[in-house]
Amino acid sequence: MSTSIKLIEKFRRLTLIQKELKAEIACRKKAESNKDELITIAGHELKTPLTIIKGYLHLLENSSSEKLIKNTRMYIARTLVQIEKLELLVTDLLDTSKIETGNLSLIRQTVNFDLLVQTVIESFRLVHPTHRIGLTGKCRSNICGDKIRLEQVIINYLTNAVKYSPDSVKIEVTVSETAGVIEFSVKDSGIGISADKQALLFHKFYRVEDPTHRFHGLGMGLYISAEIIHHQGGDVGVISEEGKGSVFYFRLPVFVNAKLKVLHR
Ligand code: ADP
Repeated sequence: MSTSIKLIEKFRRLTLIQKELKAEIACRKKAESNKDELITIAGHELKTPLTIIKGYLHLLENSSSEKLIKNTRMYIARTLVQIEKLELLVTDLLDTSKIETGNLSLIRQTVNFDLLVQTVIESFRLVHPTHRIGLTGKCRSNICGDKIRLEQVIINYLTNAVKYSPDSVKIEVTVSETAGVIEFSVKDSGIGISADKQALLFHKFYRVEDPTHRFHGLGMGLYISAEIIHHQGGDVGVISEEGKGSVFYFRLPVFVNAKLKVLHR
C-alpha cells in the first residue's frame, strides 16, 4: 500500500473515532442534564412535604396547652400524610434507580389476588377518607407473582385516582378473570387525560402539563408500575377522556410461572 493510501486510511479512521467521541460526549451531556433535571424536580417534590411537616411541628410547639389538647391529633394526622408522601417519593426514586441498573428484584410466590386487592383497599380507605372506593368482581384464581410489588402497583393506581380527582369522590375498582388472564382496573371521574398524551403516561418522568400547579409528583409511579407488570408477563393501559375521568388497568396471566422474569434475585 502506498504511503498516501495509508495516510488516507488513517485519516478516515481518525474521522470515524472523532465522530464516535462526539456522539459519546453528547450522550453523556444529555445524561448529565437529565440527572440535573431529576435532582431539581426531586428536590422540589421532597421539600414540599418537609416544609408542611415543619409548619405543623411549629404549630404544635407554639400552641397553648388548651389548643394543644384540641389540635394535636389533627396535626399529627396531617403530618403522617406528608410523611407517607415522602416515603412514596423516596421509594419511587430508589425503584427507578433499581430498574435502570437491572436490580429490581421480583419474588415468585403464590398470591391470592382477591385477598390482596381487598386488604389494600381496606387500608387505603382508612388513609384516604375523602374518597369512596368501591370494589366489584373477583378473579378466584391464585397467581404466581410478587405480592409486595403487585401491592405497590395497586396503591399507585389508587393514589393517582384520588390525587387526580379532587372534585369527585367516587372510585371504582374492578377485578375480573377471562381465559386465564386477570384484569385489575381503577376508574375515577377526575381530570382525565387527552388522547394525545395517553401514549406517554407510562414513560419515565412523564407528567401531563399542569399550569395550575395543583398536582405534585415525579412522573415515576406509572413507569415503575408498568415495569413491575411487564416483568410478570402482563400489560398495562389506560382509557381516559379529558375532563371526564380515567380507567387505569393492568392484566396478568394466571399461569405466569413460565413467563415470570426474575431480575437479579
Ligand atoms: P406523578 O403522579 O408522580 O406525576 P405518575 O407516573 O404516577 O407520576 O403519573 C404520571 C402522570 O400521569 C401524572 O403526572 C398525571 O399527569 C397523569 N395521571 C396519572 N394518573 C392519572 C389519573 N388517574 N387521572 C389523570 N391523570 C393521571
